[in-house]
Amino acid sequence: MIIELVTTGTELLLGQIVNLNAPFLAARLNELGFSVLYQTTVGDNRGRMKSVLETAFKRADIIITSGGLGPTQGDITKEVTAALFNKPMYLHEASAEQIKKFFAKRRLCMTDNNLRQAMMPEGAQIVENTCGTAPGVIIEDEMAGKIIINLPGPPRELTAMFEKSIVPYLSSRFGLQGAIVSRVLRTYGLGESALEERIKTYILGQSNPTLALLARNGEIHVRITAKAASVTEAVRLIDELESQIHPLLDEYIFGIDEETMERSVGNLLLNKNLTIALAESCTGGLVSSRITDVPGSSQYLMGSIVCYSNAVKVQQVGVPETTIETKGAVSPETAEYMAQGIREKLNTDIGVGITGIAGPDGATENKPVGLVYIAIDGAAGKVCYEHCFNGERADIKHRTALTALNHIRRYLLTI
Ligand code: ATP
Ligand code: MG
Repeated sequence: MIIELVTTGTELLLGQIVNLNAPFLAARLNELGFSVLYQTTVGDNRGRMKSVLETAFKRADIIITSGGLGPTQGDITKEVTAALFNKPMYLHEASAEQIKKFFAKRRLCMTDNNLRQAMMPEGAQIVENTCGTAPGVIIEDEMAGKIIINLPGPPRELTAMFEKSIVPYLSSRFGLQGAIVSRVLRTYGLGESALEERIKTYILGQSNPTLALLARNGEIHVRITAKAASVTEAVRLIDELESQIHPLLDEYIFGIDEETMERSVGNLLLNKNLTIALAESCTGGLVSSRITDVPGSSQYLMGSIVCYSNAVKVQQVGVPETTIETKGAVSPETAEYMAQGIREKLNTDIGVGITGIAGPDGATENKPVGLVYIAIDGAAGKVCYEHCFNGERADIKHRTALTALNHIRRYLLTI
């Protein structure tokens, strides 16, 4: 079965957003045994979309589109698809009801054009959207032996719809045999090429299970996918490969599948029955915010102070004024005093101090934008790490938060 992916949206062509849907669909479809031989991107323009779909119709058996199912005039994918398959559009009552309910539940005002999303090509199968309002569509042209599947653009909606409805559809339609199971080892701290180097033999020798490296927001995920006659057998294959590559990546692996860095930190604190407090400067509370993303974090996070100004560093967290004067607010000494000060003030087992230059201003000759100190104080003594991150202010804050959580995780592993 030859598949063509058609991602739609002028913002993709303008480079305003990164195409997340095509790589996701390509990876998953390959895992399922389909051949994705073409990927096209087209803007929200009827003529050009029509011609892209006509070409796809000629060379692929299954066309999967993403985007353009929403309520606005620019959302034209379903109409262009319907025209290509010679299907008139009609109002699909069940979808209209669904959309009305969606708005009522959120107390949002619904406009008439929202009902455009319930206009469907005749004879199409309608696919429920569990994360948004625009349903998906499957049209089969039996004469030509072609199938087109229209999925919504927002990646969260697309992935949910793909896993919940499209995988079962493709499995039953094409009698996919057996089970395909994936496991993700989430790593942090090793660059992509260094990581690849460590597990190179397994990457080169892969057949079943397969190994894929995916960079995600500063983390690198190693996805192991196995195909087998049953789920148990697939899991056994994954366990076997994981037991070989795990020791090679060991301390860099912080979580499996959905386990985030903050959850991993939270679990360690819980298991060791320890409490934590943070004094955050350049991250503005971001690390604490991430820690509180985990339900139940009140059991170990006692509190934090965003000590952005020097005065607050001195008065609230106990950094000696002389340290700030002689070493600077962004220095290992200040970070260590912050870690110690917050630990003593809130009477916790672990104290963390984070200070740095998020930019774009504030750099000096010796202290560039992106320079960050992360200190931890606890039963294993005081430690401080220096980093220099690249990027915009938001990137530096994100990177600092993730790195701080990782240092906390690794510190906890030693006590
Ligand atoms: P909506 O109901 O939100 O309008 P839609 O199905 O009409 O959904 P689009 O209007 O094409 O989809 O896209 C909506 C948003 O989804 C885009 O602004 C963009 O943020 C995101 N999006 C769409 N396609 C992609 C893609 N291929 N990769 C990443 N993000 C995407
Ligand atoms: Mg739209």
